Amino acid sequence: MREEIYIGGQWCRPSSGGSLPIINPATEEKIGSFAAGNAEDIERAVSAATKAFHGSWGHTSGRERACFLEQIAQVIEREQEHLARLEVLDNGKPLAEALWDIEDTAGCFRYYAGLARELEEGCVSPVELPDPRFQSQAVREPAGVAGLIIPWNYPMLMAAWKVAPALAAGCAMVLKPSELTSMTALELARIAHQVHLPAGVLNVVTGTGLEVGAPLCRHQDVQKVAFTGSVETGRAVMKAAAENITPVSLELGGKSPILVFDDVDLDTAVEWIMFGIFWNKGEVCSATSRLLVQQGIYEPLMKKLVDAAEKLRIGDGLTEGIQLGPLVSQGQYEKVSAYLQRAKAQGLKLLTGGVRPAHLSKGYFLAPTIFDQVPEDSEIWREEIFGPVLAARTFEDELDAIGQANKSRFGLAAAVMTQDEDRLLRMARALRAGIVWLNCSQPTFCEAPWGGRGLSGIGRELGPWGLENYLETKQVTRFRDGEKLGWYGIG
Ligand code: NAD
Repeated sequence: MREEIYIGGQWCRPSSGGSLPIINPATEEKIGSFAAGNAEDIERAVSAATKAFHGSWGHTSGRERACFLEQIAQVIEREQEHLARLEVLDNGKPLAEALWDIEDTAGCFRYYAGLARELEEGCVSPVELPDPRFQSQAVREPAGVAGLIIPWNYPMLMAAWKVAPALAAGCAMVLKPSELTSMTALELARIAHQVHLPAGVLNVVTGTGLEVGAPLCRHQDVQKVAFTGSVETGRAVMKAAAENITPVSLELGGKSPILVFDDVDLDTAVEWIMFGIFWNKGEVCSATSRLLVQQGIYEPLMKKLVDAAEKLRIGDGLTEGIQLGPLVSQGQYEKVSAYLQRAKAQGLKLLTGGVRPAHLSKGYFLAPTIFDQVPEDSEIWREEIFGPVLAARTFEDELDAIGQANKSRFGLAAAVMTQDEDRLLRMARALRAGIVWLNCSQPTFCEAPWGGRGLSGIGRELGPWGLENYLETKQVTRFRDGEKLGWYGIG
C-alpha cells in the first residue's frame, strides 16, 4: 500500500514524513503502512478543494457529474474482488460480506449518478409571492467544500455514502478515512484519478482523528462537515464545527432493540436475530443488540438461537465459508472484552460465548456471545458494545415491549417480529428510532433514508435526503421591469 495522500490530483508524501501500520486483525501481523497526515496536509487539501470548487467543478452540470459517478461505479464493479479482499485484510470481515459491501458501494455511486441528472432539472423552482411586482426563485446550489470523516466498520461503503452525494451535488471534498482501515479510501482516490475526476475535487488525507479529523472540522473554508463514528467523537466534531457555524451531519452509534412477539415462526426469527447482531461481527451501528422476547416463547427461542450461534464458522475472513471474522483491532478487542469481564463480574448469566474461540490462538476473535435476562440498568443493556454481543430480556405485552425498547438515549433503529399486521403498524408508529424494520433487521438500501435520533445523530444520509446534506438553497428575487416601489415618493 502506498504511503502517500492524494491532494489536488497528485499523490504526495505527508508533511510529517511519518506513517502508521496496517495490521491484519486475523493474524495480528503488520501487512503494510500508510501516510500519517496532519494539519498542514489538511490545509493543502482544503485549499486544493476550494480551488477546484471555485474553478470549473462548481459550474459543472448534473449530467457531467453523473458521468464521473457512473465511471467510478463501473471501475468499482470491475475491481470488486480486489477491493473486497482489501476490506477483509483491513477490517477482518468475511469475504462474502465484503463482496456484498463493494457491490453496494458501486450501487451507491450509480444511484447518485441518477440523482445528479435529476438535480439538473430540479435545481430551480419558482416561489409564489403575494406581491405581484416581485418574481422569486429557489435555487439549489452545491454547499462548497465538504469535510467527510468516516469509521472503520464499512470502510469503502461509508466513503461512498458521503463521497457519492457530495459529488452529485457538485461539492469538492476532503475525505478522512479511519486510521484502522485506510486502504480502500486510497483506492477510491486512485479510481477517481483513473476516471479523470478534475484535480482537487476529491482529496484523501489519511492519519489519526486528532491530527487530521480535528483540523478538518474546524477549518473555516469547509462549508459542510459530514461525520460517521462514535458519540464521543461526534460531540468533538460538533464543537469544532461550531467555531465557524459549519453545518454538521452526524451518524453516530446505537443500541437498537429487536422485539419478538409470541406469534412468530421461531426459525425465521432466529435467522433475523442472528443477522442483526453477528453480521459484520456486530460492528454495525444499527446492530439489533438488545433482544426483547415475549415471555411465552423465550426459552424455546433462546435455545434455538444459542444452537445456531454456536454453529457459526469463525476464522480468517479470507477462508472459504467463514461467517464471523475477528474484531477490527486490538483496541476494539480489548474494549469488548472489558465489557464482557465487567458483565461476568456483575454476575450476568452467559448463554454462550464470552471468550476467544479455543481453536484460534491469534487474531482478535471473540465467540458469538449471548447474555440471558440482562437487567435494564446494566451497561451491556444500555451502552453500545460494537461487537458480537447480544443482550436478551423478556417482555409481557405490547405496551411493556414499547416501553423497554424506547428506554434508550440512542434512537438509530428498531426491529419488530410478529405476524399481526395491525400490531406491525402500531409498532412502526410507537418505536422511537430513525429506522424501523418490520419482520426483518438490517436490510439497507441506498434509496431509503438512514440516520437516527437522540444520541444516534443529526440528519439523514442516503436517498434524496443524503443529497440535501451537500446542497444550499438560495433565494433569487427580482423586481419586475416597469413596476414602482413608491415608498419614498421618488422614482
Ligand atoms: P470514532 O468516533 O472513533 O472514529 C470515527 C472517525 O473519526 C475516524 O476516522 C477517526 O479517526 C475520526 N476522529 C477521531 N477523533 C476525531 C476528532 N477529534 N475530530 C475529528 N475526527 C476524529 O468511531 P469508530 O470507532 O471509527 O467507529 C465506530 C462508531 O461509528 C460506532 O459508534 C458506530 O455506531 C458508529 N457508526 C455509525 C454509523 C451510522 O450510520 N449511524 C455507521 C457506522 C458506524
